[in-house]
Amino acid sequence: MSTTPQSLYRDEGVVLRTQKLGEADRIVTVLTRRHGKVRAVAKGVRRTKSKFGARLEPFSHVDLQLYTGRTLDIVSQAESIRSYGQPIVADYPAYTAGTAVLETADRLTAEEREPSLRLFLLVIGALRALAERTHPAPLVLDAFLLRAMSVAGWEPALGGCARCGEEGPHRHFSVPAGGMVCPPCRPTGSAMPNPATVELLDALLTGDWDAAEASQHANRREGSGLVAALLQWHLERGLRSLPLVDRSDPTAPRREAGLLSEA
Ligand SMILES: [Zn+2]
Repeated sequence: MSTTPQSLYRDEGVVLRTQKLGEADRIVTVLTRRHGKVRAVAKGVRRTKSKFGARLEPFSHVDLQLYTGRTLDIVSQAESIRSYGQPIVADYPAYTAGTAVLETADRLTAEEREPSLRLFLLVIGALRALAERTHPAPLVLDAFLLRAMSVAGWEPALGGCARCGEEGPHRHFSVPAGGMVCPPCRPTGSAMPNPATVELLDALLTGDWDAAEASQHANRREGSGLVAALLQWHLERGLRSLPLVDRSDPTAPRREAGLLSEA
């Protein structure tokens, strides 16, 4: 068994989720600014006298001091920078959108410790907009999802053809092709979204909030469906390409079953 010398580091991050660990501890999954996604043990946080338990809840933006551990790091200090939890949880549309933001950020960072400053800033921006009610929650979510896909290298083609680049506007939309497609490239089963819906998605991707907020309800609904289908497609294809070690190796260390349960 190898031992890694403990070293201390500091970073800020957003708590994506928490899991119970044993009687009093919790594992927190944090998307940090400089170290990517980190999973760390927060000891004693479920005791009422814990000095930082309440700061390590989902939607919290925290400044952390951590020790590197052999498998999981250990939280040694946590200071609240800002908690978006209360205003987000108090509003159901904001809560459902915020939960989807955290889950998507978690799924997009399949690898731990791969820094993505752009994704971190997108998450902070989305949570702030949801907490402050800057824009309607469903639009904030779709803008986040479109930009997060863009950061992941999956930016949908909304103008030119996704396959050949032929200048648009085009009428057909294909999820497997990754956006709008021209007539010769059009796969069977392509959708024909309303042009106003495609304009809405473009406005959300580019941050044109005046145009996005002027959109009609029907276009918002149709746009959300297209964004969800694109994200689902990419996540499933992306995850399939990852090694299946965790699921196939029965001797994998720190089996989570029995030790961990969802908080
Ligand atoms: Zn084409």
